[in-house]
Amino acid sequence: MSTRKSTQLYRRALKKIPGGVNSPVRAWKAVGGIPKFIRRGKGSHIIDVDKKKYIDFVASWGPLILGHANRSVLRQLEQVAKNGTTFGAPTEGEIKLAEAVCRLVPSIQKLRLVSSGTEATMSAIRLARAYTNRTKVVKFDGCYHGHTDGLLVKAGSGVATLGLPDSPGIPRGFARETLVATFNDVGSVEKLFYRYGKSIAAVIVEPVCGNMGVIPPAPIFLSSLRKITRSHGTLLIFDEVITGFRLTLGGAQQLYGIKPDLTCLGKILGGGLPLAAFGGQRKIMDLLAPEGPVYQAGTLSGNPLAVAAGLATLSLLSRQGIYKALEGRGKRLQDGFEDVLRKHRISATINRIGSMMTIFFGVEKVRNAAEARKCDRKLFARFFHGMLKRGIYMPPAPFEAAFVSVAHTMADLDRTIAAFDQWAAGET
Ligand SMILES: *Cc1c(COP(=O)(O)O)cnc(C)c1O
Repeated sequence: MSTRKSTQLYRRALKKIPGGVNSPVRAWKAVGGIPKFIRRGKGSHIIDVDKKKYIDFVASWGPLILGHANRSVLRQLEQVAKNGTTFGAPTEGEIKLAEAVCRLVPSIQKLRLVSSGTEATMSAIRLARAYTNRTKVVKFDGCYHGHTDGLLVKAGSGVATLGLPDSPGIPRGFARETLVATFNDVGSVEKLFYRYGKSIAAVIVEPVCGNMGVIPPAPIFLSSLRKITRSHGTLLIFDEVITGFRLTLGGAQQLYGIKPDLTCLGKILGGGLPLAAFGGQRKIMDLLAPEGPVYQAGTLSGNPLAVAAGLATLSLLSRQGIYKALEGRGKRLQDGFEDVLRKHRISATINRIGSMMTIFFGVEKVRNAAEARKCDRKLFARFFHGMLKRGIYMPPAPFEAAFVSVAHTMADLDRTIAAFDQWAAGET
């Protein structure tokens, strides 16, 4: 298999772009090797610059629930692009998208469109701080909310840890405003509230975690967060940048019946273009400028192309039976993989909810970040390359979700399971 062109491009990229990529995980540092440069995608497939074809389970890290180059999304983009790509003035599409989101996600009465998930979480937190007139934020070890300073913090050791920055360049003072709790552990949250309750502006959480691999919430976890935050006058922020429109049209909050105060959306919302949003109760959202004093802005916010792609995507997702079909495909993949694991006596656990799934090698249960970190990363790297060789493009890192899209056929999934079986046979 030739990788000549990818290798050439990677070398060229390294000279002008740090690490050769514009987002670190694309560089395959967790699995080794030289990243593939992609030439095009169609439906469930991508083709790299060396003309090798793969079934894609990265889906641009979540947005492409309809698969690549969906025809009706492209048609909308063409229509809109003809009339200009940006105005820095309001357009009707933005209202349509806002109305659609409010209809689908009832906890959102008003929202603002931004260009990335990072912007959405950053702005939601600024708003929560302004609304509560408090400074501290609780996040969970292993949850990712974009790369904004105060959220780039995970747990240090011990309980009730004050946040230490995950990256140089983040002042200690910023990180100190971030408190870190353990996902699925209500006690760890109660402890923080016992000590800091009066200064906690918000709890931000991925209601189904996708960024330490897929980890669903334990039965009373989310409802407990709702109860604790409400009783302390703290806002509950659901970061549904992955789960929004992925699990149901109303997101994880619909699935679990919990109403957060603020919600962050992204990825699928933009249908493959840069678009995200944050929204919630009217009385909170009306604090935003120009209605209120909390500043937030964006040159390309609500960009007409991104809005058109988002509207087209939501409209397709509103068809009957989509989420049932996605669940069926996710289940097929999980069942197939589990059969292979049993057959070859490979120890691993698969966490899946709907169309998002992670395989953790060498561990039995994964309910939080600490358990996720115990997985066998070396075996994952071999799995990744073994699958790649057989034409399957899995996420190039162990703590990520593999995404099934509407475009994956049962034949695609069977091919993927067969590739897994072949790889596993070689491992044992
Ligand atoms: C991807 C992601 C973000 C960040 O979104 P970007 O568009 O990459 O800035 C935030 N939160 C969650 C849960 C995400 O998965």
